[in-house]
Amino acid sequence: VGDPSDRWRADPGASRGTDIECEGWRQEAALRMLDNNLDPEVAERPEDLVVYGGTGRAARSWDAYDAIVAELRDLGDAETLLVQSGKPVGRFETHERAPRVLIANSNLVGKWDTWEHFHELEAKGLIMYGQMTAGSWAYIGTQGIIQGTYETLAEAGRQHFSGSLEGRIVVTGGLGGMGGAQPLAVTMNEGVCIAAEVDEARIDRRIDTGYCQEKTDDLAEAIERATAAADAGEPYSVGVHVNAADMLEAMLEREFVPDIVTDQTAAHDALEGYYPSGYTVAEADELRDSDPERYERESLETMERHVDALLELQERGTVAVEYGNNIRGQVADFRAERDGGRSAGSAERGGSAGNDGTPWPLSGATARERDAFDFPGFVPAYVRPLFCEGKGPFRWVALSGDPADIHRTDEAVTELFPEKDALHRWIDLAQEQVSFQGLPARVCWLGADTDDEGLTERARFALRINDLVASGEIRAPVVVTRDHLDAGSVASPNRETEDMRDGSDAVADWPILNALLNCAVGADIVSVHDGGGVGIGNAVHTNNHVVLDGSDLAAEKARRVFTTDPGMGVVRHADAGYESALEQARASDIAVPMEDR
Ligand code: NAD
Repeated sequence: VGDPSDRWRADPGASRGTDIECEGWRQEAALRMLDNNLDPEVAERPEDLVVYGGTGRAARSWDAYDAIVAELRDLGDAETLLVQSGKPVGRFETHERAPRVLIANSNLVGKWDTWEHFHELEAKGLIMYGQMTAGSWAYIGTQGIIQGTYETLAEAGRQHFSGSLEGRIVVTGGLGGMGGAQPLAVTMNEGVCIAAEVDEARIDRRIDTGYCQEKTDDLAEAIERATAAADAGEPYSVGVHVNAADMLEAMLEREFVPDIVTDQTAAHDALEGYYPSGYTVAEADELRDSDPERYERESLETMERHVDALLELQERGTVAVEYGNNIRGQVADFRAERDGGRSAGSAERGGSAGNDGTPWPLSGATARERDAFDFPGFVPAYVRPLFCEGKGPFRWVALSGDPADIHRTDEAVTELFPEKDALHRWIDLAQEQVSFQGLPARVCWLGADTDDEGLTERARFALRINDLVASGEIRAPVVVTRDHLDAGSVASPNRETEDMRDGSDAVADWPILNALLNCAVGADIVSVHDGGGVGIGNAVHTNNHVVLDGSDLAAEKARRVFTTDPGMGVVRHADAGYESALEQARASDIAVPMEDR
């Protein structure tokens, strides 16, 4: 990617305040969001342009970064910049209501849609891994994921442990950009977390930022402290400096059975996101450079042991769930390739198995004989009911850089939705326990429920923020965006669309329609990516940004975008036959043309 640019070296991170270097706030917002993604407080390896999630980048090279900055600074209010896999490739006159930036990352034609082909193109400098919010300039640090992780674990507590994680031990792996949210999300739910992480510096980073409480090299000590905390009903988290697969096997040997087991190593990328067992980080990094094929093979062998251990824990009574890193898909593909044959998608498999009462297809078999997909993904297990209502992770960023602006929005969202107890609890916890990284930002799940005027929750809140910017109560414009993991913006058969009721898991028309619709209604940045959290060829997903600068134009855009975007989630799930989505469509007056057929 070349050497970091002089601009970044001189002052890494986003500009703050009300003076702008671009022609308008829409372009300035794009620039600040790009720079925010590369803030050393926000990004995992900003000097390599890596934001999070294995190799998720914000720009293809430092030259491309400089060129994007120059284009944004020069971009007119009626122009649109095209960014192809992190490189600016064109600029057209469009119109004021059109998006200012259109982004496509990592997309490949079906037959060539593989890591192998992607790596060939990447080596030639022709493509970039955009992950989800890395290449769409919407990453806001670990806080971006924390509410989703918190809500997901809260739902697990409700489903399996009569309402709370108090006294429960959650075991996981990976304390990177996203995975680092896990210990805090567990303790926010009153539970105890043991997290394996091979890279000690990552554990230190989570401890420094308040996401994890303690660390140790000694698993026995971790189990002892965790058990004592759970017995006392105290929240507690510990990072264990160890390979996650080795840790789970050691837990089995000790006959330690946690309450929940999951994983957020970056297993979606066997070469650059996951560490094989038997190496220190430095040794493994060396092996990756000297013999990438061997690295990848050993990485997949470790993942196979990792999944076997997860399944064995499940067999012994632990609730096992995949947390969206495609570790099941990786192992299933690896086995299929090694043993000959093709790995089936979730629809063809007849669905993945569930915890607690849902029979496993091979129940009674030993872990080694079971399929990697014999434990569920977190979306069908916990999140889909929210998607059916158009609910998803809505996030907003204060371009002023002033935390007071976010605190004002915290007040606004709680005033606007007095009946939402869980949201109030979340905002209180976030204010107390989540430190800002880079530009101050917040996230909460809002959906398609409409008020008397037909405004969705998301639209109402965005319009409220826009009013606060207009009146000067908020110092500078606010960008509203979201995760790519949202109700109507993803096709990902091993994650967001796993086990869809009608078997439409792999149909990628939905995210494409979502991106087209976002352009039609005038979002300010619209992006479409392949890959993301589950790796090349496994997902297509989109994002949008709307800049709330207090103007009438911003209000018009917000009203439209935040009606259609959650609306797409409702339509997508209604089409798949989910009754709650059909009910939501009726309640929110969303047209579903062939509803009865
Ligand atoms: P990251 O690359 O920032 O961090 C991954 C971490 O895992 C690193 O710290 C690495 O040292 C550690 N690691 C790798 N192999 C390990 C092993 N065998 N044992 C112990 N530690 C190991 O990635 P991230 O942003 O934290 O994302 C993690 C994964 O979770 C990715 O696959 C991502 O796509 C997925 N994800 C899912 C969701 C979701 O909503 N479901 C959200 C975020 C991330």
